[in-house]
Amino acid sequence: MEFVYNGLPSRVIFGAGKRNQVKEELERLGIERAIVLSTADQSTTGAQFAQLIGDRLGAIFPGAVMHTPVQVTEAAMHQMQQMNCDGILSVGGGSTIGLGKAIAYRTDLPQLVVPTTYAGSEMTPILGQTEGGMKTTLRSPKVLPETVIYDPELTLTLPDFISGPSGMNAIAHSVEALYAEDANPIISMMAEESIRALGGALPRVMADGSNIEARSEALYGAWLAGACLGSVGMAIHHKICHTLGGSFDLPHADVHCLMIAYSAAYNRDAAPEAMKRISRALGTENAPAGLFDLLQSVGRVKTLAGPGMTKAGLDKGAYLAVQNPFLHPRPGTRDGVCDMLQAAYEGRRP
Ligand code: NAD
Repeated sequence: MEFVYNGLPSRVIFGAGKRNQVKEELERLGIERAIVLSTADQSTTGAQFAQLIGDRLGAIFPGAVMHTPVQVTEAAMHQMQQMNCDGILSVGGGSTIGLGKAIAYRTDLPQLVVPTTYAGSEMTPILGQTEGGMKTTLRSPKVLPETVIYDPELTLTLPDFISGPSGMNAIAHSVEALYAEDANPIISMMAEESIRALGGALPRVMADGSNIEARSEALYGAWLAGACLGSVGMAIHHKICHTLGGSFDLPHADVHCLMIAYSAAYNRDAAPEAMKRISRALGTENAPAGLFDLLQSVGRVKTLAGPGMTKAGLDKGAYLAVQNPFLHPRPGTRDGVCDMLQAAYEGRRP
């Protein structure tokens, strides 16, 4: 056995109602005047946090949007400078957290993050941002939030059509962590536990979004999945979803949700140990089929034909996906990827 493990240094507080500790945690970070970030949709939640932190409020910026455009980051930083802010409080999903990370990257100010979806960005040192329509991604320790408060009560309002795909997106991080080139035993344990927690909780969340036990279990699984994403490299699945999202304008979480069963099937023979762990976590004999069955109960998009992909696009997608070759665990070939996309197009059980 050989491996390298780098623990990522963040403080995590988890539990229903833990958002009420937000002021104390700002104090612990030495933040005296925080900027509170949210999307416009979540401005009411942002305002509630502004109240919770009382005299530690510097400014409120409810302007976070998808893909972290640089001009939005600049507008938020301008407001921060005017109000002498010395730290960041991000409340929301990956879009809001992305804005906080973009500011931290430029200022090295501390971040306290309160995630409200299952995307997992809060646990990674990765920042994706867009400028002039181009998306670039970077890794930097400056970007990793110092403190994260997970409060499952904040996820009770997350609608089904986001909860299911966002949770499967988290499972996809964990599946790929299991067969990552730089996989290690700690992350593999976390990945298996994350698939178990999310696999059990998501159908219950879909049946009743107000079930706080199921919401807690799902958010716990999402935390672990985010840690996996932040620690080891991702493989074919993330590459293909990036291609399908970027070149065919298919929705991010829905594509992850649909494709993870087919990505696992692609690697079935090359990653037997990962398949064993996924099967055990889902209580099934056949890991890709188990992921497919989960998709049937939590997914919104069940075939690649659904989100507008054409049959002719499949070969182009396969061609684009193997432009920068990936070798691990099973090498990506145009024919292999094309077969995989065809199966997803038809919605076949792998
Ligand atoms: P999001 O942050 O865009 O949120 C989706 C919508 O849901 C928004 O309108 C938001 O206001 C709303 N919302 C969020 N939480 C809610 C709640 N509890 N109740 C009601 N509404 C709520 O979506 P996301 O899926 O969390 O994040 C996606 C983005 O994050 C993508 O841009 C992706 O690239 C990025 N991401 C980055 C990383 C990373 O490591 N850098 C990791 C995962 C995702």
